[in-house]
Amino acid sequence: MNPRLPRVTIDMAVAARFAEEIHRNPDIEVGGKYIGFVHGPARLPTLGARHEVMSSLAFEVVDYIDAGPGASRSDAHHYPDRDYQLRRFREIERMMPAIEHLGSWHSHHPNGVRNLSDRDLDGYFWTVNNQDHNHDFFLASLAVDETGFNHARHFLFVRGDQHYYEIPLANIELVSDASSSRRTPPQAEETTLDVPGWTDNAIGRSQLARDREFVFRRLTALKYGITSGRVTLTGTVHAASGVDIEVKMVYPSRVGGDDGLLKIRTLNPPSIEFILEDKYAVNARSVQGAIVAVDLWNWRATRAAYVVAFQAMNGMQRWLGLGRNDRDHSAPKDIS
Ligand SMILES: [Zn+2]
Repeated sequence: MNPRLPRVTIDMAVAARFAEEIHRNPDIEVGGKYIGFVHGPARLPTLGARHEVMSSLAFEVVDYIDAGPGASRSDAHHYPDRDYQLRRFREIERMMPAIEHLGSWHSHHPNGVRNLSDRDLDGYFWTVNNQDHNHDFFLASLAVDETGFNHARHFLFVRGDQHYYEIPLANIELVSDASSSRRTPPQAEETTLDVPGWTDNAIGRSQLARDREFVFRRLTALKYGITSGRVTLTGTVHAASGVDIEVKMVYPSRVGGDDGLLKIRTLNPPSIEFILEDKYAVNARSVQGAIVAVDLWNWRATRAAYVVAFQAMNGMQRWLGLGRNDRDHSAPKDIS
């Protein structure tokens, strides 16, 4: 019987960078060296002891070191610049002594091969059994298509073990700002941050990853976070028409629910406030739609003083694709 496998948390920023790197390099394999923290006993004398502790371990991936200037990459292989990666690792280690090399990721998106190659396996077995590797485990993520992290597979290698294990998606958790543990060791409850209905299933996690990536690429002024079991997106966007738009989005609006809440208001001039509550409709793209609608409204308002707010609200409903809905989401409400 397979031993039970550890839990892995990966900072959303890492997953987003991972996807970004694939998009920038459609024709060559890309990858990097995972760094972060191991929570639990990760140095044990026997293979039996390693198998026994595995289910209680947690790997926290906070960043990765890129392949480096001397990397050799093609559509069918990926060999990082190991000297560069080691140098970078030692630099980071000087600032954060507890940091560990957790493993690595690479992508087979140019060739679509869903499995680790023999060379990949040789490399991972070699590394995990190397005395210079500081603990008994090695985490390997493999992207299999251009969606990057969304469809990636994750594997665990164990020192002294001739087998390796695929880590089920249920054990992989995307978290925001895992890097905060660089300053303070995480409490148990901090590492179990989750959003019921989203992080506990593959579809939810994939939606979160897509959303996070969209924010990363398109809504760079906004901050993505997970707090108290909910995903938040907050910040102020300076839109093209000159208006500053404050955005507060949370989903679900209550823990365990399936509807989101979006509040938008302009700061200069403070002329529009807008609240949207809807099932599934509130996500990074609807935020983008609302920003565009407000921006457009502002552009028109500065040129035609008689444009009234409800027209903008109707416009926003169209932008958000909510016209078909019977419920009236457009009524302005007070925002406290
Ligand atoms: Zn490979």
